[in-house]
Amino acid sequence: MQKNMIFLKEQDLPTQWLNIKSVLPEKLPPLKEPNDDRGSRLETIKKIRTKAMLEQDGTEEKWVNIPGEVLDKYIQVGRSTPLMRAVELEHYLDTPAKIYIKREDFLPTHSFKLNTAIPQAYYAKKENVKGLISETGAGQWGLSLSYACNMFDVETIVFWVRISMEQKPFRKYWSEMLGGKIYPSPSSLTSSGRVLLEENPNSYGSLGTAIGDAISYTLENEGYKYASGSNLNHVLLHQSVIGLETYKQLEIAGDMPDTVIACCGGGSNLGGIMAPFIQAKVENPSKIKLLAVESNASPRLCKGEYKYDFSDPVGITPLTLSYTMGHDFMPPASHVGGLRQHNGSPMVGLLRHKEILDAVAYDQEEIFEAGKLFTKLYGSIPAPETCHAIKATIDEALSAKINNEKKTILMCFSGNGLLDLNGYIEVLGKK
Ligand SMILES: *Cc1c(COP(=O)(O)O)cnc(C)c1O
Repeated sequence: MQKNMIFLKEQDLPTQWLNIKSVLPEKLPPLKEPNDDRGSRLETIKKIRTKAMLEQDGTEEKWVNIPGEVLDKYIQVGRSTPLMRAVELEHYLDTPAKIYIKREDFLPTHSFKLNTAIPQAYYAKKENVKGLISETGAGQWGLSLSYACNMFDVETIVFWVRISMEQKPFRKYWSEMLGGKIYPSPSSLTSSGRVLLEENPNSYGSLGTAIGDAISYTLENEGYKYASGSNLNHVLLHQSVIGLETYKQLEIAGDMPDTVIACCGGGSNLGGIMAPFIQAKVENPSKIKLLAVESNASPRLCKGEYKYDFSDPVGITPLTLSYTMGHDFMPPASHVGGLRQHNGSPMVGLLRHKEILDAVAYDQEEIFEAGKLFTKLYGSIPAPETCHAIKATIDEALSAKINNEKKTILMCFSGNGLLDLNGYIEVLGKK
């Protein structure tokens, strides 16, 4: 019997994060100020972010030290996460391909979001910030931020899209047990929310109203800073811990990937797992395939335009160059909350623009079928976002079978979907 879960010893954990910016094929285009009279967005960003996050967003250094206290917390929450050789899936598909899956769902809050929540809470504490303010849609980020802030005794306030919070109350209760203060958005606690509630007291809220509430609250209350769970350079930097661990785990297994697969919303689990493989791809494009998996609800990398756009629907943020569906794009209703944004990380956008990154998009029905197969083989339930990566992994393994290629596929398992079961029931239950 083959041992199919590979862990790292504590002394072998990465002690530095890898900055993707330093391995991009060209210089990352800067953020821009929009041409209107609503004030400087770059100044607002400077005011509401912690100093450490602003510095990490800007740094060109290839390696950034992981502070000792952060490393201790990474160990406390169970890092390294296992790299699993998915032998059962290989047998089920009858493929000559080897499949490795990096299991970020083993973290206590069930998703990789904790990898950036921990350092963001640590730096906030170090800068004497009273609390971190953020927004959340499906809730994975709000949950991880609540846990990390609690570890460092920093307050957390999360504005939660009202309709998502009411439809799926469990992550809210869980976040509250971890010390988070959770409010529905639009919120009467902020000037931005009060305007919206006056117009429509029964507003469902959206990611845009929640970003508006979070930024307003940060500006209107002394001592707080605003935190983000995806898209930004510092978030991708922290997530490189996923790829760096995986690289060492693959060395132990004596393998290197021919294909690396991750689902892509803002692009942070993708950037994280792919970080150590990008340089090799830039230097020798035929060596490795890097594949982003999107939802057909918002297929930016497959069908969007590469241009400057706001990162939020109402234009509070500076303009970012990336692939976008347009900032007023309303994705069709679906159960893949984490993959529905209209744009994403500028670093991921550049990789796509330079054809370093391939992309594919899937429908809800086919991804939940892939998730159901994983559950049948392994017992745990993948998050809807993760199901996209599983579907692409299955398709790559089946094409390897047709072409009789003994290739090695690596996939990032971004999170657990037990609390998203209603998505499975609604989509698969229809049949
Ligand atoms: C947030 C989230 C995603 C999407 O975010 P990225 O920044 O694109 O990685 C994917 N899967 C899970 C489980 C998530 O919580």
